[in-house]
Amino acid sequence: MPRTDDAAPQTDGLHLRVLASGSAGNCSVLLFRRGGVRRVCLIDLGLSPRRTVRLLAECGLGLHDVDDVLITHLDSDHYYESWGRPARAGAARGEPMIPRHVRVRVHERHAGAAVRAGVPAHLVVPFDCGPSGGGVFEMQHDLGGAVVWPALTAHDTLGSVAYRVEYHGGGDAATLGFATDLGRVTDSLLSHFRGVDTLAIESNYCRQMQLASDRPEVLKRRIMGGAGHLSNDEAAAAVRKVSPRTRAVLLHLSRQCNTPEAAHRAHADGPYEVVVTSQHAPTPWMRIGASSAEHSRLRPSVRVGLRGLFDGVGAA
Ligand SMILES: [Zn+2]
Repeated sequence: MPRTDDAAPQTDGLHLRVLASGSAGNCSVLLFRRGGVRRVCLIDLGLSPRRTVRLLAECGLGLHDVDDVLITHLDSDHYYESWGRPARAGAARGEPMIPRHVRVRVHERHAGAAVRAGVPAHLVVPFDCGPSGGGVFEMQHDLGGAVVWPALTAHDTLGSVAYRVEYHGGGDAATLGFATDLGRVTDSLLSHFRGVDTLAIESNYCRQMQLASDRPEVLKRRIMGGAGHLSNDEAAAAVRKVSPRTRAVLLHLSRQCNTPEAAHRAHADGPYEVVVTSQHAPTPWMRIGASSAEHSRLRPSVRVGLRGLFDGVGAA
């Protein structure tokens, strides 16, 4: 039995839990729930199958509960190559670790890379972002429908996909923006995320720590040059402009060039709550679109990551 705090939520609506985030692996769970029925979507498969299964089990979930996977891009910290390899044990022995009913949704530009990285070709469901960059697709029809708007960002050569997910299945609409490995923030990205309840965005590095690090200059330039990652200040500026209704979730902190405190500090006085993700421990479940009154009932350790409700409490 999962611990009560970790158990998948029983309330209707859209819920997010970041299992892990950082350069050693990224995976988040989106849980859609309506009238006692739930659907699960993972964002990225950057953890090993074994670790993912263990972290899902802590919530009372299994791979068989997963319906969809949204891939941001195919770097190894977002897609762990052994997902496409045959399982060595269990009922699905010999089958790819990704169950055959799962739709692995990737941008059409990433579809070839996905298959080369080991995603079984018959599971790949490509989408495009349209000629103006504005594509759309739907998921979870039987639970009232979730609309997903993908947008390509400037990360490296092929870009990374930023997702806007809107769910109407649990009463009021719940809207999530999710963007990692961004490169830079553009006006179109800001308008893509306008009006979201929760904005999950990378906050990769502290500029001073990056400049002072012993990393090769070429690597620093790649990270900071507009096609790599966002600094804490860039992330905070983006969050302020988007102005999420409820909270910001800070993703993909660099181990060498960032600290949770530095990432958190960039949001001082922001009129929203802040949750700092970790490479080593999942975040609590976060209800997207939940009221502040509901947040106050979250377990105490959440307070570490929430600003505004618990002023004066240290960062994660
Ligand atoms: Zn990454």
